Amino acid sequence: MSRRSVAVLGSTGSIGVSTLDVLSRHPERFAVRALSAHSRIDSLAQQCEQFRPRWAVVTDPLAASALRERLAATAPGVTVLEGANALCEVAAAQEVDVVMAAIVGAAGLRSATAAARAGKTVLLANKEALVMAGEVFLSASREGGATILPIDSEHNAVFQCLPPFWHAGGSQAAAVERIVLTASGGPFRQWSREQMARATPEQACAHPNWSMGRKISVDSASMMNKGLELIEAHYLFGVPAAALEVVVHPESIIHSMVQYVDGSTLAQLGQPDMRTPIGHALGYPDRLHSGVRALSLPELGRLHFEAPDLLRFPCLGLALQALEAGGAAPCVLNAANEVAVEAFLQGRIGFMQIADVNSHVLERLGHEGAGESLEAVEALDDRARTLALTAVASTE
Ligand code: NAD
Ligand code: MG
Repeated sequence: MSRRSVAVLGSTGSIGVSTLDVLSRHPERFAVRALSAHSRIDSLAQQCEQFRPRWAVVTDPLAASALRERLAATAPGVTVLEGANALCEVAAAQEVDVVMAAIVGAAGLRSATAAARAGKTVLLANKEALVMAGEVFLSASREGGATILPIDSEHNAVFQCLPPFWHAGGSQAAAVERIVLTASGGPFRQWSREQMARATPEQACAHPNWSMGRKISVDSASMMNKGLELIEAHYLFGVPAAALEVVVHPESIIHSMVQYVDGSTLAQLGQPDMRTPIGHALGYPDRLHSGVRALSLPELGRLHFEAPDLLRFPCLGLALQALEAGGAAPCVLNAANEVAVEAFLQGRIGFMQIADVNSHVLERLGHEGAGESLEAVEALDDRARTLALTAVASTE
């Protein structure tokens, strides 16, 4: 069997590191062809020394020259490329079969879309690509003949619970009644609004079950992450808002479920460890060892479920509103939220003000039409960011 060559975009992040962990367990199946990072050059250099990719992409030119200098001595076979365009070139390169799209936020949109357009197997962690540009991304995948495999644990779980006819675009979609996304509820699940108003970035990033990058950790605390995931599920599985439900499940053992018209509910269970969905997608349709041990149900004893509270978690309600509105709404909500989360992490606004900024931007720009090209999507994203920055400044 010839080895599949993999580009890991965002290799220094939480998903990137877990991906390399799984890949390192299967050197006979995979060759790491490209790695990328924004600023953590030390960590990228170590990855290059270990995996010896053909390309290392750094978005910041200054960091690129520092990396070039270091690798000239330690890993001379690695070519260091710089700039956001290089990400797209690598994602579409003929030598690459599989692209792990694990850059965080809107910064991951272009390269994920380039991979889709080039017909790659795209392991999609960057949910923002679908939230910002659902139609554009999906039509690029269709035109390119790409295979999109979800990495987000919930969507990967749903994918595993859907039968193959669904993935082939079959006609039995009516058999599925509902897709249920589970949510841990995050670190503030039992906090009051008043307590959350005083929450610090450290508290927001201290997720009880998952270890993740800071942006998605804050989104988990506000439940915006689940909101973005509803939008992601809508595009990935082609279901309307009415067929999507969120259930809070604090243990994060059931990663999501599919309910069928005959009364069956199928669920995927596992440890809260991203190496399981990553291993699933890398091996698909085979199963690979991912380094994650199987569950012991007697050890777990009980699992709990509750309905989400939209009053304490207004970001989830805003995302639902954006999903139902369609058009520009998901894109502008995502952009506003990226700005608001960054402002919260910098101590400029309080935790509950993230929702205020998001709501302000959604109200003003949410009624516009969807961007029909990447450029149009990015223009919308830009306008929403400007408006969000003004809203942040006026709350300070
Ligand atoms: P992270 O912050 O840990 O890592 C982000 C990666 O993106 C890093 O390698 C960083 O160098 C790179 N990056 C950041 N800004 C960039 C820019 N402007 N240009 C180019 N590269 C840039 O993030 P993460 O937690 O690994 O999340 C990555 C993606 O996966 C996100 O879209 C997130 O929503 C999704 N996701 C993550 C998890 C998780 O468990 N961490 C679970 C589900 C989905
Ligand atoms: Mg998720």
